[in-house]
Amino acid sequence: MERVLTYDLKDNFIDKLCSFITDNFPGKENDFSNIMCVFPGRRPALFLKRSLARKIKGSFFPPVILSIDDFIESIVSKTRVVNKISDLDACYLIYSIAAELDHSMLKGRESFSEFLPWAREIALFIEQLDLEDIENNSLREIQKSASIGYDVPENINILLQNIISIRRRYHDVLEKKSLLSRGLLYSHAANIVGDYEFDEFEKIIFCNLFYINSTQARIMKTVYRKGKGIFIFQGDKNKWPTLKRKEKELGISIPDIEPRGGSCDILLYAGYDLHTQVAIVSDIINKIDNVNDTVIVLPRKETLIPLLSEIAHTVKDFNISLGYPLKRTPVFTLFDTILNAQKSRRKESYYAFDYLKVLSHPLIKNLSIKIESSVTRVLVHKIEEILKGKIKTELGGSLFIRLKELEDLEDIFILGRDALRNMDIKIDIDSLKSIIRELHGVFFRSFEKIENFNSFCAGIKGASRLIIDKSLLNSFPLNRIAIESILSLADEMSSLSFSKEQFNPEDIYSIFVQKIEDKLISFSGSPLKGLQILGLLEIRSLNFKNVIFIDVNESILPKLKFYEPLIPREIMLSLGINRLEKEEEIQRYQFMRIIASSNKAFLVYEENKDKEKSRFLEELIWERQKSLKRIDAFNVIRGSFKLKIAPRDNKAVKTKEMARYLKARRYSPTMLNTYLRCPMQFYFHYVLGIKEGTNLLDDLGADEIGSFLHQLLEEAFKPFVNKKPSINKEFEEEFMRLFENKFSSEILKRMRSDAFILKEIIKTRLKKFLNEEKKRDVDKIVCLEEEFRDTLSFGGIDYNFISKVDRIDEISDSLVIIDYKSGSSDVVPKKIKNNNGISLNREYIKEQVKSFQLPVYYIISSRYFKNRDIEAQIYNLRTLERKSFSIDSDSSLDMYLGFIEYILKEIVNPDIPFLADREERKCSFCPFFYLCR
Ligand code: SF4
Repeated sequence: MERVLTYDLKDNFIDKLCSFITDNFPGKENDFSNIMCVFPGRRPALFLKRSLARKIKGSFFPPVILSIDDFIESIVSKTRVVNKISDLDACYLIYSIAAELDHSMLKGRESFSEFLPWAREIALFIEQLDLEDIENNSLREIQKSASIGYDVPENINILLQNIISIRRRYHDVLEKKSLLSRGLLYSHAANIVGDYEFDEFEKIIFCNLFYINSTQARIMKTVYRKGKGIFIFQGDKNKWPTLKRKEKELGISIPDIEPRGGSCDILLYAGYDLHTQVAIVSDIINKIDNVNDTVIVLPRKETLIPLLSEIAHTVKDFNISLGYPLKRTPVFTLFDTILNAQKSRRKESYYAFDYLKVLSHPLIKNLSIKIESSVTRVLVHKIEEILKGKIKTELGGSLFIRLKELEDLEDIFILGRDALRNMDIKIDIDSLKSIIRELHGVFFRSFEKIENFNSFCAGIKGASRLIIDKSLLNSFPLNRIAIESILSLADEMSSLSFSKEQFNPEDIYSIFVQKIEDKLISFSGSPLKGLQILGLLEIRSLNFKNVIFIDVNESILPKLKFYEPLIPREIMLSLGINRLEKEEEIQRYQFMRIIASSNKAFLVYEENKDKEKSRFLEELIWERQKSLKRIDAFNVIRGSFKLKIAPRDNKAVKTKEMARYLKARRYSPTMLNTYLRCPMQFYFHYVLGIKEGTNLLDDLGADEIGSFLHQLLEEAFKPFVNKKPSINKEFEEEFMRLFENKFSSEILKRMRSDAFILKEIIKTRLKKFLNEEKKRDVDKIVCLEEEFRDTLSFGGIDYNFISKVDRIDEISDSLVIIDYKSGSSDVVPKKIKNNNGISLNREYIKEQVKSFQLPVYYIISSRYFKNRDIEAQIYNLRTLERKSFSIDSDSSLDMYLGFIEYILKEIVNPDIPFLADREERKCSFCPFFYLCR
């Protein structure tokens, strides 16, 4: 029997191996358990078993199928228990050794968290030396050169001078503690493999191992020499230098292969960006009849989520097997936010912005701690409104807050309880307080006294458990997997050898975040069923009929690390370690192999001024051009898609309880306007009681500046109530003094360094306003910021109204009701002609009235000031323009009353749901935009 075989790149490796096994080892009753197959990874095991099952069509005992790593571990486990050192413990050991040998190596990176990236590089370097069987003698040259000085920072030179000692000490400590690094595991296996005969196996087949390091080569060579080993490669050794090298490393001759005819059908697609690429892939998948023998290969992990959101609704079964960066999940953002709140804390006071960021994280504000998640959400919104100063309390606008202050602030809980009542949720104040205390305890207090990794991990575990128990985590598999991964990281960290040693909390946070940077989470699925979504490593040895590759662009395929952060490239090369060349060839091999063995390959790449085609793709194009002797060897299909926004018909059902509440509550013109604009917005704001802020504390909104100006004008003009205002120099000076004081006490504390610009703008406008006021011949200011309460009765229901008028002036026996506006929306209703015969609806009223502000002021004030001429005005503080509104006949008055009646009846009608009235511009400014989707 041949013991060194080569398959063509176009062959289906698994099926061919299956035939090789059944032909050469017919074994009794289909028992292949005395054969071992060793693959580069674990994934091919399932595919080989499936191939055998299809061929045998009956029961069988499969071969023992291992990955090369598992095989090596099985050798070592014959002599000792395999205890592997964790990555962080290895780094800490290197850090301690470096500190002990020569402290100047740590210069500028004294703490463990600062040294960690270096420690990782050193551990990786030692691992490579061990894997490649590089003796300390070969390192002496490096040490010598380092003493003269490489072109690297001084402390790296010191480190290189000590590299042999570090490696020795590292090995000694591991040996003493009976621990193994990956490098030591391999070198240990290579040293002992000769002692074993592997009697339990008739043959050990090394399957499709492309790149092997020196210790692996030593092990495989030994097994081969014992007459046990069989090597099966794939590809022409004359085209792949790595295969050629293997002949020497393993002391074998790899046979030439007869190239097979036929080639796969390659189709090229170009997309403008990632989203176009995934849209193209979705289109390709829709055209494939059966996706069971199809793979999508993602060389870049970040493509996974955009891809899934595009295809998840069309593909029923799919299996994802590639690590997704934990760092890109909302769970990571949550913990990062928690740690940032701790970093900006001053003793017991939290920076309000960071505090709110924690509470507003979707995984926290949607926790169902009592009754349901809306309770937490409403409470968080109330806190947000209070801290932003939207609701007036002594904490409003504070930059730093103490948890206890919030827990003692009754307003939060009263406001929360009332808002929840409107939603039909009955909960008492004590229960609401306990929710906030629990959130503070788990997400803030448990991180306040961190001394070591153990106490830190306890905090992480507590927070994770609350999220697992009380959130809708299961509805979002990515978050569930991410939090499990955080928990396992916390477990790993709390069992570190130095987990009880005292550390600065900032160092612990930094190490935790650095650890997450490298962590990948994996999805579980059925690898043999449905569409397969795999990374470049996961396709090793597999074959699929249809192969779809995304991101076939340079710098992604191949993805190479050109920069060696610590060990200079010249050192690596002098030791015979060429990571770049090795990586490039491995990625090229995987790409070419899976394409060659498929029936159809769809290669999708990004085409724009910043991206180039992958060198591998250029190679394929060049090969095709040569064979066709044509430049246009491929017809590239360029993808584009039309964006059509199809909004969801969103609505909220109105319960009878809500209708009852709406009948009883007090209305204002602003409320009617909100309903007119969008009933859904009315629902969020006045039924659920949510005022969702789009920005946190650092962003002072236009409405807040508006209310500042209203208060200023009220205070300044108060002395003129029932008098003729006199805008003289003295008044102007007093007015500006008042402005300065108010601005400093109310605005300045909420703004950063750019507050002076805002101040100057407002000041200029106010000066212009005073000049304008001088020109108006006002006989008397009747009132300022006056509330008028009245009842409007329609269809037997009394609707309570309140309207707060900014100012009423008396001018030549007429009353002028003034509504100040500081923004650009100063809407005055149209002059409405007779609307007889028009059946009313909200849209029509919206079009005609635009705003109920002036009509309601007019109607209610004219009841107070009977038999007076009344005019309502919008006074724009920005442009100083005044727009008037008045009702000139009884029929106009009836018409406005009819509009108000129609809107009120619709609001209280339980059969009419709150509908979303979408308008792109309006919605983009809506504070409930994200709730409304
Ligand atoms: S996003 Fe648009 S539709 Fe939704 S509530 Fe806001 S304004 Fe209405």
